[in-house]
Amino acid sequence: MIAGNLHSILEKLPSGVQLVAVSKFHPVEQIREAYAAGQRVFAESRPQELAAKVPQMPADVQWHFIGHLQTNKLKLVLPYVSLVQSVDSIHLLEAINNWALTNGRVVDVLLELHLGAEETKQGFTEDEILDIATAEKNYFSQDFAKNQFSSANATPTHVPLKGVRIRGLMGMATNTEDMSVVERDFERIEALFRKVQAMGLPDFTELSIGMSGDWPLAVRHGATMVRIGTGIFGPRV
Ligand SMILES: *Cc1c(COP(=O)(O)O)cnc(C)c1O
Repeated sequence: MIAGNLHSILEKLPSGVQLVAVSKFHPVEQIREAYAAGQRVFAESRPQELAAKVPQMPADVQWHFIGHLQTNKLKLVLPYVSLVQSVDSIHLLEAINNWALTNGRVVDVLLELHLGAEETKQGFTEDEILDIATAEKNYFSQDFAKNQFSSANATPTHVPLKGVRIRGLMGMATNTEDMSVVERDFERIEALFRKVQAMGLPDFTELSIGMSGDWPLAVRHGATMVRIGTGIFGPRV
């Protein structure tokens, strides 16, 4: 069933779009089934669960982290992942940067845009993302130090973010059956993505939108990665 699900998604997915298999809450046996069918990129949302699964899977698996990440959990996550998709605060961005500098690494990250109506959802506002992108751009163009965030409510940082590479944006659309609402969310994040890309940031190439229920729509709005759990593994246990 898992192999069949994977193949039917891959048949419809344009070749430039990466399939990220969301394996959270699913046992390792199911992840192995997907691996045997050729899938190599998996995503987890809880640090402990990720750290427990990594040693049980082959070393050529690429793990992404997609959940809320607390700064005291970085060492459970950052050694194992090729991408943190869910960076949702300056505080976290700086903590990842510090960890990376201490450990001689550069960590690839996506900035999570707050989409949808739910109060509890994590993520940056559009203005915060534009501030970070502007600071990055100034850093790369050597006009300013990379650490000058202009947003009034952003914590100023004193560490140039040399330990992180901002690869793009991630967003979760409003949880609704109403596809016109979902489409509006995707339009917003796509517009922001294009705007930041137009600023000429190096490495800013990834737009991670689309889950089991809305990924075809996300692909039409420029997704370069879709994150699919239920559609591959079935309901989470
Ligand atoms: C769980 C999760 C997904 C996958 O959701 P499905 O509806 O099962 O495909 C995608 N993205 C994030 C951030 C998630 O937490």
